[in-house]
Amino acid sequence: MIDQQTDITIVGAGMVGAAAALSLSRGGFNITLIEANEIPQWSEQEYSLRVSAISAASERLLEDVCVWQTILNRRASPYEAMRVWDASGSGNLSFDAADSGQASLGHIVENNLINASLIEEIQNKSNISFIIGSRLSALKWMNDGIQLKLENGKEIRSTLVIAADGGNSQVRKLCGIGVSGHDYRQTGIVARVRTSLPHENTAWQRFLPSGPLAFLPLADGSCSIVWSADQQRAADLLELDDEEFSQQLADAFEHRLGDVEMLSPRAGFPLLLANADSYSADRVVLLGDAAHRVHPLAGQGVNLGFQDVIDLTATVLEATQNGRGPADPLFLRKYARKRRADASIMLAGMDGIQRAFGSNLQLVCKSRNLVMDLINQLPGLKQFFVNRALGN
Ligand SMILES: Cc1cc2nc3c(=O)[nH]c(=O)nc-3n(C[C@H](O)[C@H](O)[C@H](O)COP(=O)(O)OP(=O)(O)OC[C@H]3O[C@@H](n4cnc5c(N)ncnc54)[C@H](O)[C@@H]3O)c2cc1C
Repeated sequence: MIDQQTDITIVGAGMVGAAAALSLSRGGFNITLIEANEIPQWSEQEYSLRVSAISAASERLLEDVCVWQTILNRRASPYEAMRVWDASGSGNLSFDAADSGQASLGHIVENNLINASLIEEIQNKSNISFIIGSRLSALKWMNDGIQLKLENGKEIRSTLVIAADGGNSQVRKLCGIGVSGHDYRQTGIVARVRTSLPHENTAWQRFLPSGPLAFLPLADGSCSIVWSADQQRAADLLELDDEEFSQQLADAFEHRLGDVEMLSPRAGFPLLLANADSYSADRVVLLGDAAHRVHPLAGQGVNLGFQDVIDLTATVLEATQNGRGPADPLFLRKYARKRRADASIMLAGMDGIQRAFGSNLQLVCKSRNLVMDLINQLPGLKQFFVNRALGN
């Protein structure tokens, strides 16, 4: 028996699924949002370990869905510059927001703050029904829609289904959509630290042969680190006591920000490259990590997901303005082609950078140092990269 009939069902209320629900709700659709787990709570007293570098384009989306001011009022740290350098050579790159007449290149924000702010706004919307603590288990295609079955036995009939259920997307698997990519055999270690020198509202990144190490500026003067290292090296680093880890961290960063003191425990995340073979199927579209996973070296994962939301909203609204339904195959394919082309360029770019910096071959070292210096010195080329960072 059908318990609920809806225009659009979104599976997964992570940052991307929750933003999609709010963005699409502006089109007047009836939306159901399904989330398997409890929503992580944000606490003013304690910084969360997971943060994201949010681009200016993503900020505009969050503004459009009325949560950006809430996030700024609570806690966000603008970064005004980026400094990137190579451990094996002299290559370095620096980007300054001021050079483009901007106040910042973006903001560092805790993931659970973005998520909690989106969910609060969702709870004010009468056209979004939020089902929490229920996992999708099956999809059945009907003539006029898709029947979704949840593990708690509930059944929903929907015109369009949106997969925003992360890297191991169940929806993607149920649609039989394959994935290409590879495991970097690296772990991203995240933690919060205090440095003896100020972070200068700058995102810092040093490329080591074993992976990049980033220090991201937080509002209270501390930094969030992302240290990507080969699995064995990362496992050894995770085993160290705080004193030894902070010593190794400061050494790996050439003491650029002075001494380091640990302010949090450490956590490790596996790093993968994944690109779904298609971002759409009959009455289904893929968004966020369900469609693509990228190395965190340029902090682009959730920004790509937010761009999916922006493009999908525009496509679905265009379909309805043309008298078509939200699941019109022509329009869904248009979204899928555009987003897959865009994400594939980003994935290939990040993969290329990861490989180039992972090589110790002298010719590769020399070439990448040359390229970094070239980008740094050519204003036009540099502006291109600043625009990418801004999400323009
Ligand atoms: C170390 C590290 C650092 C990163 N730093 C950055 C950064 O600086 N900037 C950036 O842009 N990106 C960054 N990323 C990437 C970013 O975190 C991800 O791209 C982003 O979190 C993906 O969001 P999502 O909503 O698509 O997926 P998820 O966050 O995985 O959300 C999926 C949701 O779906 C739910 N779900 C799953 N299955 C089901 C089901 N069957 N039924 C119902 N619900 C289900 C899950 O519970 C979850 O809530 C980083 C990643 C890592 C690993």
